Amino acid sequence: MAEEHYDAIVIGSGFGGSIAAYRLAEKGIKTLVLERGKWWPITDRQDTFCTYREPDGRAAWLSDETVMFEPKPINKYVGLLERHIEDGITVWCAAGVGGGSLVYNTVLYQPSRANWNRVFPPEIPYDEMDAVYYPRVRSVIKPSPIPGDVLESDYYLSTRIMTEQASLAGMKVRRADLGSDWDVVRQELQGEKKTGGHRWRNLVRHQ
Ligand SMILES: Cc1cc2nc3c(=O)[nH]c(=O)nc-3n(C[C@H](O)[C@H](O)[C@H](O)COP(=O)(O)OP(=O)(O)OC[C@H]3O[C@@H](n4cnc5c(N)ncnc54)[C@H](O)[C@@H]3O)c2cc1C
Repeated sequence: MAEEHYDAIVIGSGFGGSIAAYRLAEKGIKTLVLERGKWWPITDRQDTFCTYREPDGRAAWLSDETVMFEPKPINKYVGLLERHIEDGITVWCAAGVGGGSLVYNTVLYQPSRANWNRVFPPEIPYDEMDAVYYPRVRSVIKPSPIPGDVLESDYYLSTRIMTEQASLAGMKVRRADLGSDWDVVRQELQGEKKTGGHRWRNLVRHQ
């Protein structure tokens, strides 16, 4: 093997790793990113991933069954989602170039100050996140809650039932902001666009 030297090595290409690598490279620091998962080329054919209803090996990381909701048999492959069942907690994480951005639901949620301070050290101040970074992300992605006509469609029946039940249980329900292009969703609902595997991924792609 050729001998190579890097000033920094970033392991994982998710939200954290890819931005860290980008910032290092911007400063002229020679950086290597190591990613365990596949690079998934996204094309307009929207067939990069399998569908939720018809899963195959692309759905899960080295597993012979799907790992979310009801298990279905699949071929073992270096697919998207890995599941860890730990003591009292189940953790799902993505595998692939882009990490969680390949599978996440595009919910853009700003935590409360209290929750932020419980998790992050004072070196990452909430005030700056609140004043600079969260508004910047919102201005680029322009998130919005699911519109009524989309929510009324068959695909969102489970969401409607969950909302109804949560309200009946006395919980306060509100629609979260999502970084989705609702016009693309409407095209999918009308059958004008194929709903790619992890549909949300295609929505992100089409923003
Ligand atoms: C199904 C799902 C839906 C989600 N929906 C939302 C949402 O709507 N809104 C939201 O804010 N958050 C959501 N999240 C959470 C969000 O995706 C994660 O918080 C975020 O991706 C974490 O970023 P990260 O950079 O820390 O890690 P990740 O994005 O998970 O990236 C880690 C990367 O490291 C790679 N890796 C791991 N181990 C190794 C190794 N040994 N060698 C090389 N590479 C390795 C992985 O393959 C992966 O690409 C969701 C997560 C999941 C799983």
